[in-house]
Amino acid sequence: MVEWASRLRKLPSYLFAELDEKKAEKIAQGVDVIDMGVGDPDMPTPTPIIEAMKRAVEKPEHHKYPTYNGMKSFREAVARWYKRRFNVELDPDTEVVALIGSKEGIAHLPFAFVEERDVVLVPDPGYPVYHSSTVLAGGEPYHVPLKEKIGFLPDLSNVTKDLFRRTKIMFLNYPNNPTAGMATKEAFQKIVELAKEYNFIIAHDAAYSEIYYEEPPISILEVPGAKDVAIEFHSLSKTFNMTGWRIGMAVGNAEILKGLLKVKTNIDSGVFQAVQEAAIFALDNEPGLKEIRETYRRRIEIFVSKLKKAGFAVEKPKATFYVWFKVPEGYSSMEFANLALDKAGVLLTPGVGFGVYGEGFVRAALCMPDERIEEAAERLANL
Ligand SMILES: *Cc1c(COP(=O)(O)O)cnc(C)c1O
Repeated sequence: MVEWASRLRKLPSYLFAELDEKKAEKIAQGVDVIDMGVGDPDMPTPTPIIEAMKRAVEKPEHHKYPTYNGMKSFREAVARWYKRRFNVELDPDTEVVALIGSKEGIAHLPFAFVEERDVVLVPDPGYPVYHSSTVLAGGEPYHVPLKEKIGFLPDLSNVTKDLFRRTKIMFLNYPNNPTAGMATKEAFQKIVELAKEYNFIIAHDAAYSEIYYEEPPISILEVPGAKDVAIEFHSLSKTFNMTGWRIGMAVGNAEILKGLLKVKTNIDSGVFQAVQEAAIFALDNEPGLKEIRETYRRRIEIFVSKLKKAGFAVEKPKATFYVWFKVPEGYSSMEFANLALDKAGVLLTPGVGFGVYGEGFVRAALCMPDERIEEAAERLANL
């Protein structure tokens, strides 16, 4: 018999198996299921980026193994974009690393820094990769609750001095998936101070920094001194509907990035240079980004206003394409997700799938045409 390694057996089991099964059942019965579970943009990559890729792919020099940390021209484009967008200076040679999507970098980071018994603070509810990569690297994830009453900022009141002393990395993610919570400069400042006091790394995942509808979200590197302890992950996936292209970047503290890069040079061989060239064009010109924001803004308006009218406790997100809302009284998040699928044919992600502190909520991803979102909201309203 083939037996999984213990590190693999330690990973949480897949919580959505039951919902997946039920979805397949419903479809087999002929039900028109609206799947709001998947956070993957439905719109295509903007045409000018595709055109840039077509030009790039013709160049034989791009057909070779790329450099590990990314093309210099890509790293320079990232530095330009950071300066323009956040007014943060980055040295393209030491403070920028290209990633095969930000998930790749997030997953590899703990391998560079986490020893047995080291603690990694992960947001809960949160993107599951922070927890699983910590476990794979042999560390101990500690779930920090994101509480609604403090705007889904991390509630660190239960993290003891002893835990902080054992902490090697703290993952943060703003704008937040799944809660759509936004960071404040004060909150970032406080965490930077803690990181300096207890000597841990801050890894801020800013995958949704450009999917916003009000004030532009901040970079943690805008906080003075943050670069001493922090790196930040970005991705072109959500910003330019490029999830399939696999390109992102880590920026910030050079020593931390050096560790991440050492892991990467032993595991992968970099990002296809044609993709990097298309990404340079995307970062410099931001084609289609305004339209992408307007599309989500419209969808949010449709979905939230209908649900609100029906009595749901739901607010418009200021960023991301997720609507995170409370399940009605008397249901667990799993029970309500089951009911929504059963009675309305709408698949929502139960909050508990993002961690225990996600209980009481569900997440709807607005990655489908307006009409489908309207239809989903109507069906939920009639539950
Ligand atoms: C989508 C997502 C990512 C990963 O995106 P990549 O495609 O790997 O760049 C990272 N973090 C969060 C919170 C996400 O939702």
